[in-house]
Amino acid sequence: MKKKIIIGNWKMNPATVSEAKVIVAGIKRTALKLSKVTVALCPPYIYFSDALKAAGKGKLAIGVQDIFHEQAGSYTGEVSPAMVKNAGGTYAIVGHSERRRLGESDSIIAKKVSAGLSAGLTVVLCIGEHTRDDHGVYLAFIHEQLMGALSKVSKKFLKHLIIAYEPVWAIGRSDKDAITPRLLHEMVLYIRKVLSDEYGEDIGRHIPVLYGGSVFVNNAKEFLSEGMADGLLIGRESLKPVEFSTILKIAHEVRV
Ligand code: PEP
Repeated sequence: MKKKIIIGNWKMNPATVSEAKVIVAGIKRTALKLSKVTVALCPPYIYFSDALKAAGKGKLAIGVQDIFHEQAGSYTGEVSPAMVKNAGGTYAIVGHSERRRLGESDSIIAKKVSAGLSAGLTVVLCIGEHTRDDHGVYLAFIHEQLMGALSKVSKKFLKHLIIAYEPVWAIGRSDKDAITPRLLHEMVLYIRKVLSDEYGEDIGRHIPVLYGGSVFVNNAKEFLSEGMADGLLIGRESLKPVEFSTILKIAHEVRV
C-alpha cells in the first residue's frame, strides 16, 4: 500500500510569521506520529525558512507554491528551483489555477515543471477544468493541460512528479460543492490512462494523483477510498492545525 500524500497550500496566509510557526508546530505534532502519510506544507516564501526551522528534520516537508523557470540570473522578484532546493525545500506546486488566472500560460508551466524536476524538487503539477460538459470537452482540456505541462520533461525525472487534479469549480467552495468520489475516481483513472499511453503503464501507475478542491474533515476519507486519490492538496484547512491533523489521521488509517 502506497503512503498517502497530504500537501497543504497556504496561499497568501497567514498574516504573521508567529502564526505561521504555530501552525507548523501544531501539524508537526501529529505528522511525526503517522507512518503511512507523507506530509508537506507550502507556506508563502516569506515564511519558508521559519517554517523549515519549525518543522525540524524528518517527517514534515516544506515546499513552495511556485518557482521560476530559470535557475539563476537577472529576474527581479523571482525565486529559482535551485534556491528552494539549496535552502532545504523539497516540494514545489506548479500551475495552480490561481496562478494560471494571473496569466501563467501552459508553456511557462511546462518550463517550470522541467526546471523544478531538474533541480531535484518534487513538483506538484496542478491541472483541472473550469467547467464540466456532457460531451467530454473537459477531458480533452485535461489531456491538453497535462501533456502541455509535461512536454519539456525528460522521462527519467517523472518519478519526482505528483499530479494534483483540482477542478477549478470545486476550489474554495463548501464541502457540498466538492467533486463526488465517483467522478473523482473516473478522473484518476483518466489521468492514469493519459500518463500510461504516453509513458508506459509502469510510469502511469506510479505517478501519484492527488485531489484538491474543498477538502474538509468530513469528506477527506471518501476521496482517498472511493475516489482512489493517492493523496490530497488542501487549501483553507491546511491553515487549521486541528482540522488538518485530523485529515492526516484519516489518511493514515484509510485502507486502499
Ligand atoms: C487549492 O487552492 O489548492 C485548494 C484545494 O483550496 P481549498 O482546499 O481551500 O478548496
